[in-house]
Amino acid sequence: MHNIYQPLPAIVEEIIEETPTIKTLVLRPKQDFSFQTGQFIELGLAGIGEAPFTPSSDPNIKDHIEVSIMNVGRLTQQLHSLRKNSSVGIRGPYGQGYPLDEFKDREILIVGGGVGLAPLRSLVLSLFAL
Ligand SMILES: Cc1cc2nc3c(=O)[nH]c(=O)nc-3n(C[C@H](O)[C@H](O)[C@H](O)COP(=O)(O)OP(=O)(O)OC[C@H]3O[C@@H](n4cnc5c(N)ncnc54)[C@H](O)[C@@H]3O)c2cc1C
Repeated sequence: MHNIYQPLPAIVEEIIEETPTIKTLVLRPKQDFSFQTGQFIELGLAGIGEAPFTPSSDPNIKDHIEVSIMNVGRLTQQLHSLRKNSSVGIRGPYGQGYPLDEFKDREILIVGGGVGLAPLRSLVLSLFAL
């Protein structure tokens, strides 16, 4: 079990341009890293800073994490200018995941908007796997 307060290095494996203001970074952590859907990570750049983001990928996929980032300010602008194979740091995961057990065999309505839909993708993928 890694220390959730210590940044783990990760490599930007792929960059997906979702919209003119939103990019998904596919990150490959250099060590095992897992999260539950609904938890967030701190994603940071050395010398610049870090901010919370909620992975948009399927938590059952263990070798990479996808984070969909809207360019709104100082850090996110730098994250948008990263190239393939750039290094980032990730800490966490933090917060409570969704209570997936309670969702089993229920009808579920998922409501979200804007870049807030990105973390809900992770929930939808988790529900498919239930
Ligand atoms: C739990 C959690 C999960 C999150 N998950 C995601 C996610 O999956 N994807 C995502 O895109 N975002 C997510 N966010 C939001 C993300 O953390 C922020 O967008 C990010 O911290 C912005 O950092 P920044 O340095 O780029 O912006 P900053 O430079 O800090 O700017 C932030 C906002 O403040 C405004 N601002 C900055 N300076 C001023 C000023 N002087 N006067 C007026 N306004 C100003 C900017 O225009 C911008 O809208 C999440 C946040 C939380 C708390």
